[in-house]
Amino acid sequence: MEISELQELMRATYLERDERRGVEATFRWLVEEVGEVARALRHEDPGRREHELGDVLAWLASLANLAGVDLEQAAARYADGCPKCGEMPCACPFTP
Ligand SMILES: [Zn+2]
Repeated sequence: MEISELQELMRATYLERDERRGVEATFRWLVEEVGEVARALRHEDPGRREHELGDVLAWLASLANLAGVDLEQAAARYADGCPKCGEMPCACPFTP
């Protein structure tokens, strides 16, 4: 599935609810889902990790819909490698 397809799918499925909830509450849901990824990473179950990362993607797409951001366009910033140094792989000084 393309990123634009995911965003359109989330729009078709959840836009009305997302608009009713609003951008601030939708952002809080995204952050909560990111917390669930942190918990999933402490477990060895790869299915759980996939599930939680999928939820983060879905909430990110919902937030992008409300914020008027085209995720395909946003991701294009990384299409030619690191947007800072322009290299692939990145040649920036490593920061742990
Ligand atoms: Zn770089």
